[in-house]
Amino acid sequence: MNIVKKNDYLFNNVSSIQGVGKKLSKYLKNKKIEKVNDLLWNLPYSYTDRRELVSLNRLEIGKIFTIKAKVVKYNFPRIRNLPNKIICEDEKGKIDLVYFNSREGYIRKILPINKWIIVSGKIGFYKNRYQITNPDYVTSIDNVNYVKKLIPKYSLTEGIGEKSYRKIIEKVLKDLSYVKEWYETSFLKKMNFLDWKTSMQKLHQENFNKGINSNVYRRLAYDEIFSHLLIMSKNRKKVKKYKKKPKNLKKLISRKIINSLPFQLTESQKKVIHEIENDLKSKERMFRVVQGDVGSGKTIVALLTATNVIESKFQCAFMAPTEILAKQHFELAKKIFKNIKINVALITGKTEQSKKKEILKNLKDNKINLVIGTHSLFQKKIEFNKLGFIIIDEQHKFGVKQRMSLAKKGGHECDVLLMSATPIPRTMMLTFYGDMDISKITEKPAKRKSVVTLSKPEEKMNELWPFIRKQIKNGNQIFWICPLIEESKILNYSSAIKRFDFIEKKFPKKVGLIHGALKKEDKENVLKNFLNKKIDILVSTSVIEVGIDFPNANLIIIENSNKFGLAQLHQLRGRVGRGDKQAACILLFKGSLSKNAIKRIKILKSTDNGFLIAEEDMKLRGYGDISGFQQSGIKYFKIADPVHHEDLFKLAENQIKKIENNLDNDKYDFLIKLFDKAEVFSEL
Ligand code: ADP
Ligand code: MG
Repeated sequence: MNIVKKNDYLFNNVSSIQGVGKKLSKYLKNKKIEKVNDLLWNLPYSYTDRRELVSLNRLEIGKIFTIKAKVVKYNFPRIRNLPNKIICEDEKGKIDLVYFNSREGYIRKILPINKWIIVSGKIGFYKNRYQITNPDYVTSIDNVNYVKKLIPKYSLTEGIGEKSYRKIIEKVLKDLSYVKEWYETSFLKKMNFLDWKTSMQKLHQENFNKGINSNVYRRLAYDEIFSHLLIMSKNRKKVKKYKKKPKNLKKLISRKIINSLPFQLTESQKKVIHEIENDLKSKERMFRVVQGDVGSGKTIVALLTATNVIESKFQCAFMAPTEILAKQHFELAKKIFKNIKINVALITGKTEQSKKKEILKNLKDNKINLVIGTHSLFQKKIEFNKLGFIIIDEQHKFGVKQRMSLAKKGGHECDVLLMSATPIPRTMMLTFYGDMDISKITEKPAKRKSVVTLSKPEEKMNELWPFIRKQIKNGNQIFWICPLIEESKILNYSSAIKRFDFIEKKFPKKVGLIHGALKKEDKENVLKNFLNKKIDILVSTSVIEVGIDFPNANLIIIENSNKFGLAQLHQLRGRVGRGDKQAACILLFKGSLSKNAIKRIKILKSTDNGFLIAEEDMKLRGYGDISGFQQSGIKYFKIADPVHHEDLFKLAENQIKKIENNLDNDKYDFLIKLFDKAEVFSEL
């Protein structure tokens, strides 16, 4: 514990560092550096090599060198704007040091006449003489080793100056205390990892050109991954700590419904239902996420398992991200519960006050078994009588903390099920949902044909109109996705509006438009018109909700499609082909395709497996770009990279499994603090 304390200064404000005043603190804060610790994660982007100490006959123009020379003469011109010049020499040659805007006294002090000094800077050449203008470093001979070095460059130096920043970070690194190792020695040996302090110091000072796959970097990335997964594991334990009353599963209702469905459940659906039922009847609370591609049939899984909970005399809450989706779930529930005594209610922002009041009362009196709605379901004034199950649909925009607070709100008897339609790579799965149990629906309903994916250059857009006309004639509907313009939201809308006008001319009164600037209500209205077939073509930016079932939509056209990520294209494509008819996705491209773009289309055409596509997408674009992660605005890692450090994720996962049942809590305190993971850890 003492050792940890010695490093406690890392968690103080940067202003606690000697020499960091108000102005500098403010500047650093703008760069998101507030605590001393934050400095550690601002890594050098490059190094200046000042290691070579050369004699004055071996200088090369334009290069940075360090020299040792004697100050022989001053030249202080008395005319304004002319620089001060200091002539220096060694046994082999001469050089001028040139100073603009400098004071004589200062120069005499740092460059005393007839003294040998060390100077480092970029070599210039002027009027046949070598010179260094405003040298980066001037120091005495005994201080040579401070300069003769690989000196890290930080992006911050733009506003601070290399030397000042170097002083700060070097002090922080020098003051680091040895910490008690949290890994086994044998593990460190096997991995070729050094101790934390040495790794941290080397990461800044000697890791030149070795990059994120060097052992030094990997040790610290592993620390970060380990601390994240450790917190996830702790959260999971917290949820499970309080024992609940096992739900008593008769499964009478669900059997009846399954028999009346117009389709057979897929094996995947059955497996996931089984996993959920096991959680329901256990003493431990469920905290589970179901991942399944768009159209894999998650809703029915949720509703079927809810009937089990209702049968054992608990209430259920089913939360959808939008009103339309809530309504669609509500309609489906009513349909499948037609001959069954289950009371379902819908609460949205549109529900009339009087009706709402009645529903609230009935919820409190346990007369409603299942309530479906948007996130308004979790407002304070909504009181349940005996809530036993919360289902949250399409919630990948939730952070860890938010879902923990939902679990908390549900109370100790409440099981929690999330459903996510964004297949993500395994490493990200661990990152996001490491605190939950995971179920995957890996198959799609058998009779569903996969969406035919085609690509077409934009110049040939005209060939589409007859095809679209034919589709409309056959009662089909079309999505038209406008280009994604990242730079500007306004451009985004204006391009969508332009495209709408253009298509509307060809298909008068048949086209609707949706973009992010529309009010929520207007958006829902357009979607409703499309759902009710009042319009045939829906032009939109990429904002349309993923979860809504448009059974008649079987063609999607995506403009400038190489601007989208693979996973995103796959999601968009998943909006069609929910009915029985063959659906198609046409990817429009501007100009000729890059090699990478061709590769991407090939992947999309070759598979319909969202999980595979997500993995490939991450490899091609890096993890920061994966759809949903950027939008979520949550930055999970300071230095770890789920693409390059995939093996470390696996390793951390395994290690934590081994230790999670007897955790020595103090052991990881420092590590968790170091990566700010404590705030992810919820008080439940
Ligand atoms: P998602 O997983 O994207 O939420 P949904 O639950 O909305 O998918 O299901 C999409 C469509 O597939 C719905 O119309 C649903 O009735 C249908 N469906 C679900 N399961 C099956 C199945 N086993 N066989 C055929 N159709 C199914
Ligand atoms: Mg869904």
